[in-house]
Amino acid sequence: MYILCSDLEGVFVPEVWINVAKKTGIDELKLTTRDISDYDVLMTQRLKILKEHNLTLRDIQEVIATIKPLDGAKEFLDWLRTKIPVIIVSDTFQEFADPLMAQLGRPTILCHSLTTDETGMITNYNLRQADPKRKVVQSFQSLEYKVVAMGDSYNDVTMLQQADQGILFNPPDNVIEEFPQFPVVRNYTELTSIIDKYL
Ligand SMILES: [Mg+2]
Repeated sequence: MYILCSDLEGVFVPEVWINVAKKTGIDELKLTTRDISDYDVLMTQRLKILKEHNLTLRDIQEVIATIKPLDGAKEFLDWLRTKIPVIIVSDTFQEFADPLMAQLGRPTILCHSLTTDETGMITNYNLRQADPKRKVVQSFQSLEYKVVAMGDSYNDVTMLQQADQGILFNPPDNVIEEFPQFPVVRNYTELTSIIDKYL
């Protein structure tokens, strides 16, 4: 029995923070893990910036609701879910993902969460667990599933390594160079041909 674990941003939807930065006009929010490698430092800075601009969770959710899934993502995911159980495994937050999940037909997602205060300001973030992507794959393997995993970037690598089949979806060149063991696909058609044997 196969199950498919997929990353969200870069596979089915665009990068959320980059789009929030564009749509709010707050350039500092464009920083990603490529600029600041320590995720705690990065998230603490992001929350500080949101506070400085007086942006509540609701404000951010309204911005995120205007972000559209990648072309063909909803149709592909709808089809895929008729063929194999699909779990989205993401480093985003439940509250951020929600407007995007609504547009994607509400597939199951495992991700982190946010804490807000009574005014709706985001006061903290809560990581679901350490090494979250690898742990999801390990858990399904403990249930005797074989796991196909796909993602586009560094934070997916442990998931791809742990999976029975890891696939890079439209990754940047540096990721391809560092992890040549994974097949690379550029679109849903190429992806379908590579995962066809597991469906
Ligand atoms: Mg991604």
